[in-house]
Amino acid sequence: MQNLEGFKSFISTPKKGVILPHSKPDGDALGSCLAWYHFLRKTGHEVTIISPTDYPAFLKWMKGQEEVLVYEGNEAEAEKLVQDAEVVYCLDFNSLKRIGGLGALVEKSAAMKVMIDHHREPDDFADFPFSDTTYAATCEMIYDLIIELDGREFVDADMAEELYAGIMTDTGGFKHSNTTRKTHMITADLIALGADTAKIGKYIYDANSLDRLRFLGFALSQRLQVLPEYRTAFFSLTQEDLKRFNEQTGDTEGFVNYALSMREIVFAAMIIHRKDGIKMSFRSKGTFDASAFAKDNFSGGGHKNAAGGISDMEDMESTVEKFTSLLPAYKEQLLAAN
Ligand code: 5GP
Ligand code: MN
Repeated sequence: MQNLEGFKSFISTPKKGVILPHSKPDGDALGSCLAWYHFLRKTGHEVTIISPTDYPAFLKWMKGQEEVLVYEGNEAEAEKLVQDAEVVYCLDFNSLKRIGGLGALVEKSAAMKVMIDHHREPDDFADFPFSDTTYAATCEMIYDLIIELDGREFVDADMAEELYAGIMTDTGGFKHSNTTRKTHMITADLIALGADTAKIGKYIYDANSLDRLRFLGFALSQRLQVLPEYRTAFFSLTQEDLKRFNEQTGDTEGFVNYALSMREIVFAAMIIHRKDGIKMSFRSKGTFDASAFAKDNFSGGGHKNAAGGISDMEDMESTVEKFTSLLPAYKEQLLAAN
């Protein structure tokens, strides 16, 4: 963190604050927010987590999640909390564009802004930016920060499990290339602190509904297209598809990885028509830069091998057309990827 000493002295006195994850928080976003929330509360701070939107049911075992205020539907209460905050902690996102309607509120708030994040190319909005793309997960950064603040004694088993869950999900179960020695060192200490790894694996990965499994089967058999000449595979899911399978937040998480799991495929996309627009998810293997692809074509970003963005078109057909017509320009990179 730039100015770590400044930050240490800043939080050495209790502060009123809010902690924010990105929209549709995943395991890393929610896990890091909750562990940081417990740490701050144990050290005398008055904080509330505000999530821009709801989050998947498979995260609802985390301790303290029932106290998270969801902005959508509770706008007035959330606005008051942001207005009254002396400090806003922004966890697992690098741009105020990633928190929906909360972005404008945070932008105009006079609070000190702390960003703790591992995505590329952060925007310049934080007073205390802690941005480092060598971390696999924001949960690893929270762990390191708590250690820096001499707070290991405050990390109980629930916090260790929240941090473990974020690291496990952002590394794809410790198999993506972001998994490092540091990842395993931190994970080992979280186990020492009481994390029950088998329990968390079960809560997160064995949490399918029948609807979700049937939806996955449908997506694989009816909505997956493979373009071997570009070593690319993609799903396109319509609003009717989502409705037909009673899609819940988190149900499509991981679909894109099935497209990437084919041996010769190095680039995968999932294009989903949501209520508020067409959302893109990208995954890649090896040298192919999904984040650059998302940034250059779909107003997005993320990490080299996992990125997202949005379509500037209103219908699925033109979005798919745009996506496929971009591939020839990347053919050389796609063929060379390893
Ligand atoms: P996912 O495909 O799981 O939604 O996101 C993959 C990665 O890309 C995550 O690290 C996520 O934070 C990032 N990401 C997803 N959507 C967007 C987006 O619209 N803009 C940016 N800048 N990053 C995104
Ligand atoms: Mn993350």
